Amino acid sequence: MSTPAAVVIAGASAAGLSTAETLRRRGFDGRITLIGEEGLPPYDRPPLSKEILSGSWPDERVRLRDDAALAGLALDLRLGVRAETVDTGARAVHLSDGSLVSYDELVIATGVRPRRLPGTGDAAGVHVLRTLEDATTLRAALAGSPRLVIVGAGFLGAEVASVARQAGADVTLVSDIEAPLSDVLGPRLGELLIGVHRDHGVKVVTGARVEEILVSGGRAHGVRLAGGPVIEADAVLVAIGSVPNVEWLAGSGIEVGNGVLCDEYCQAGPGVWAAGDVANWPHPGLGERIRIEHRTNAAEQGMAVARNILAGEARAPFAPVPYIWSDQYDLKIQIYGLPRGADTFAVTEGSLVDRKLVALYGKDAQVRAAVGINMVRPVRAARALVATPTSWTAATAVEEGVAP
Ligand SMILES: Cc1cc2nc3c(=O)[nH]c(=O)nc-3n(C[C@H](O)[C@H](O)[C@H](O)COP(=O)(O)OP(=O)(O)OC[C@H]3O[C@@H](n4cnc5c(N)ncnc54)[C@H](O)[C@@H]3O)c2cc1C
Repeated sequence: MSTPAAVVIAGASAAGLSTAETLRRRGFDGRITLIGEEGLPPYDRPPLSKEILSGSWPDERVRLRDDAALAGLALDLRLGVRAETVDTGARAVHLSDGSLVSYDELVIATGVRPRRLPGTGDAAGVHVLRTLEDATTLRAALAGSPRLVIVGAGFLGAEVASVARQAGADVTLVSDIEAPLSDVLGPRLGELLIGVHRDHGVKVVTGARVEEILVSGGRAHGVRLAGGPVIEADAVLVAIGSVPNVEWLAGSGIEVGNGVLCDEYCQAGPGVWAAGDVANWPHPGLGERIRIEHRTNAAEQGMAVARNILAGEARAPFAPVPYIWSDQYDLKIQIYGLPRGADTFAVTEGSLVDRKLVALYGKDAQVRAAVGINMVRPVRAARALVATPTSWTAATAVEEGVAP
């Protein structure tokens, strides 16, 4: 394959920027068009539910690169413009400003958007959290120490609960499963984390499905749970997961289904690639298709796509050790690998009681994931047990762990 002359990247955030930077770092001197629907230069999302929400950082600090660094990349940067459709035959992308950009290689890095509760419309006091604007709007709402109901107790909901409590809000966290976060971490660590929230004064309502956000006079005033109970609120955050931004690919022939369906090289067709939250690919090491909505993966996958674009036949499968972190109160939670689906669990350092530990998760007699709570160095060391196939007994010195 000859070196492409023009690369178009749709989505100007972590994955898109990382692709562009890696192309340049590897000597690509053709045109790179970076298209971003948001009017802002690329910025980082993890601080939105942490430092930006709490107000401990000025908003500008979320920028991923300053003007000088962006200029150094010599990008054809189109901000405030949507990629509307793609013509894979003509290798061209139609933009919302009416222009057309041609490509040799197209990188889809359009991320995800929050899933919403049906029928909530645009009532005041109903929040989601994905963009800087969402974060500053929610921060303003927290300033009045409101009664905040958070629908969904995943990492995002849990992080907001932590910041909102510390800001003096009266917080209720509602989860439709009995043990929040247990779907990701198993019930033992799920219970530990929920215990931490309760200790900080969060009301945790489990096994409860929010059926409706109650609105009167255009403003939300609570939620109604299945079966009838009502929780009154001044603000409601809907944090019930996300939806991949793939609709603009309709009719292009690019296969979608829970994201952009790629092969193990992150390629979705001739001259088409995907990276970041939107990419769904068969992970060679895990033996299953995955889509990862986490920051480190967005950067690593962007780099991998850039390398593969330039590598021709020498392209390499993308097989990272997935990494997730989350900050809640004074806890730093770090996850290497995928605990979901594990059949064995063991705490190998620290303890559940101390809320400071390294835990291993195993499947089919092998280590599958390592989770650290306030154990930054030890869990980083445990990453090696996930990165290379390691037998459960060798790693834990116990024949059998317990169920996660
Ligand atoms: C509040 C919050 C906190 C988080 N905290 C953590 C954390 O603690 N740890 C962690 O690992 N991860 C965290 N994440 C996840 C992490 O931020 C994402 O994994 C990362 O942002 C994904 O990057 P991306 O470039 O793939 O997609 P995105 O960041 O979603 O960017 C996609 C971009 O494409 C744009 N776009 C969409 N459609 C189009 C189109 N048709 N044309 C042009 N542009 C388009 C979007 O507007 C967006 O700007 C957090 C996310 C959020 C929202």
